[in-house]
Amino acid sequence: MEACARAARQSVTVALQGNGTMTAKTDRASEALALLAEATHCLHGEQPLQQRMHRLFELLRVSLRFRDARLTCWLQSATPGTVRQQYYSAAGWPYPWDDALTRQVALAGTMETRTIVVSNAAVVDSHLPVAQAAYLGAPIYWSGRLWGVLELRAEHGHSFGPASRELITALLPQLAVAIAQEGQRLPAPPAGASDGETPTGLTLDPRRQRQLVAIDTRLEEMLGVHDLLSLLLRRALESTGAEAGAVALVDHDQGELVLQVYEGYPDERWAGLPAQSRQRLSWEAGLAGRAARLGRALLIRDVTLQPAMLPAGYGARAELAAPILVDGRAAAVIVLDSPRSNAFGEEELAFVRALCDRAAHPLRRAIHYQDALESANFLGQVFASLPTGLALLDSNGKVLRANPAWYALFGLNGHSRTPFHVSLDLVETLLPRLQEPLTLTEFCTSGQRTPSQSRLLRMRLVNPTQELQVLSVPTYDSQQQVTGRLWAVSDVTREGEAERLKTEFVSIVSHELRTPLTSILGYTELLLNREFTADERRQFISTVYVEASRLSQLVEDLLNFSRLEAGKVVLNQWVTSLNSIVAELTTQLHTQLARHKLLLAVAPNLPPAHIDRDKVKQIIFNLLTNAIKYSPNGGEIALELHEARPEQLPADHPPGRFVLIGVHDQGIGIAPEDLARIWERFYRVDNTNTRRIGGTGLGLSISKALVELHGGRIWAESELGSGSSFYFTLPVASEQARQAS
Ligand code: ADP
Repeated sequence: MEACARAARQSVTVALQGNGTMTAKTDRASEALALLAEATHCLHGEQPLQQRMHRLFELLRVSLRFRDARLTCWLQSATPGTVRQQYYSAAGWPYPWDDALTRQVALAGTMETRTIVVSNAAVVDSHLPVAQAAYLGAPIYWSGRLWGVLELRAEHGHSFGPASRELITALLPQLAVAIAQEGQRLPAPPAGASDGETPTGLTLDPRRQRQLVAIDTRLEEMLGVHDLLSLLLRRALESTGAEAGAVALVDHDQGELVLQVYEGYPDERWAGLPAQSRQRLSWEAGLAGRAARLGRALLIRDVTLQPAMLPAGYGARAELAAPILVDGRAAAVIVLDSPRSNAFGEEELAFVRALCDRAAHPLRRAIHYQDALESANFLGQVFASLPTGLALLDSNGKVLRANPAWYALFGLNGHSRTPFHVSLDLVETLLPRLQEPLTLTEFCTSGQRTPSQSRLLRMRLVNPTQELQVLSVPTYDSQQQVTGRLWAVSDVTREGEAERLKTEFVSIVSHELRTPLTSILGYTELLLNREFTADERRQFISTVYVEASRLSQLVEDLLNFSRLEAGKVVLNQWVTSLNSIVAELTTQLHTQLARHKLLLAVAPNLPPAHIDRDKVKQIIFNLLTNAIKYSPNGGEIALELHEARPEQLPADHPPGRFVLIGVHDQGIGIAPEDLARIWERFYRVDNTNTRRIGGTGLGLSISKALVELHGGRIWAESELGSGSSFYFTLPVASEQARQAS
């Protein structure tokens, strides 16, 4: 590193010795780097700053070609609060420096290049004419503090271009270090030296000092970000006399200001925004954004003199912005506006900076508090809206907190009893509904016996039927001590139902397959091995035929069921006469009806229906075969078809014209508790009769789905031991459909 710097210094020296200027042959970038290295070397040394600055100016003068230069700095001694203003200049021009301009650059906070007028007004008989000059002023900021201002002046016609500005910018941090080092050398201040001076050389007047002390106590009391920033803004407005102001939080990730509070702006600036709007603004525009990005206070005395800095068009002439620094970067920024030019000066700037310094700690605390509040609020919302029931219990089983789903799942809606002990209150409340009351008690007590173990319980409830799964896991504090339990409860009725269906499906299908297959195999084997009479053969073969039809029906039912479940069944609806379907079916069922008497009652004026012929045939076939199957002792089976009268239909039946089809038998009947469930998939009434008769429990659920696809309804009436009646409706074909067909 040192070798590099030495080489760079040598190359500059060679260049300087060669012809007094940097040679055009040398690469520009490496020239600049070499110059920078040399300048850095000048600045880092043990000599007094005076000497180091002298060397630096001489070095820079070669490439920047200025007439004179000056460093104004505010040296801070090791003793806090002691500041001394000091100038270091490179002579070259008899024109005096303009201190007002220096301060303006310091307050604007950014490097300035412009043309200025220089004169020697102090010397009346000066032979020097008033002249124009190029000017460059650069404030030296480091770590949010102003250390000094570096200024260069050159003959008119010369300008400080991008390369010069780049070089000066690179030097600024080094200058800050040099100034800081010089400050450390300052002797201790004499007793009674004034306190409270800011780097800009300002002392706050006693009234403002008192205001600051008073606000300190108020700020310490504030916990909410909004309250704190409102107070800050109000005090800033009162003390500076600003007509309007705002405070925004700074979002460094997005590069945006998030407006928190504002006061005094004419409506159109914040038109449509509620008073506490969190409107976001890019920090690229405006003085506030700049102050936030740079992390230091900025002042514009009169925007008309700095058109580039023109804020929003709401008539402000003077603007002041100051950041509140938390952990080294701007957490918030306060901006004050006034329509009066020069409304703010260094006094106001110093006051607002001091105010922001005092707000830093309370703001950090308030932001943390707000973050904690927001995440608690977020978690609370998640907790409250989860469909899984959640309850936090202490180690005695007392509910500390539970979400609405927890109460709802146990059917405890509107429950307000506190404290609530799960082991007592829950078991007691659920007792009439629990199928096995002891399991829940055992679950609670074993959880308390072994507090660090997780447990899982599935419990069945009746009236209404419900299956709940309870997962109970231990909860821990930050010291890893068990504090209680978290219960997560979910309704698994559907899953339980699906499992039951699966088991039933497997057992029914295997039974329904095995029975006919055994007969088919048995009879065919007999026929192959022995000789039988023609009558015997006919009897065997007809049994094989019946059993094979049963198998085919099973396969048919399963296929229909799966297609309906997948929503793949599309109706092929036509205007159809139901008489023809009835005629086909009675012929088809002739053999099965040998032991029964079939009565047909078809209304003479039966209107045609708008239906899928095959599907309707399948529905009536199902109902008729059920009527045959479930009246094993014979009896009458009636099939009636007529146009439905409204009073014959259930209350929730859709409006319109419908054909009503009824199938009546005098069979075994259905008990009331089974009547509601016969439409469920795989549901079979469990009694000796049905077990002997056989079936899949799919026929009625398929029929129901097909009727509803047509827009009709299906229902049943029955009395155990006396027979059953099944009804369903189909839409009558409209006049339009009839004409179209
Ligand atoms: P499956 O007849 O194949 O068992 P279904 O879905 O057609 O299946 O019928 C479901 C249950 O409804 C039957 O198992 C039976 O218990 C009952 N059921 C259906 N129709 C009748 C009826 N006409 N008489 C008595 N019970 C019936």
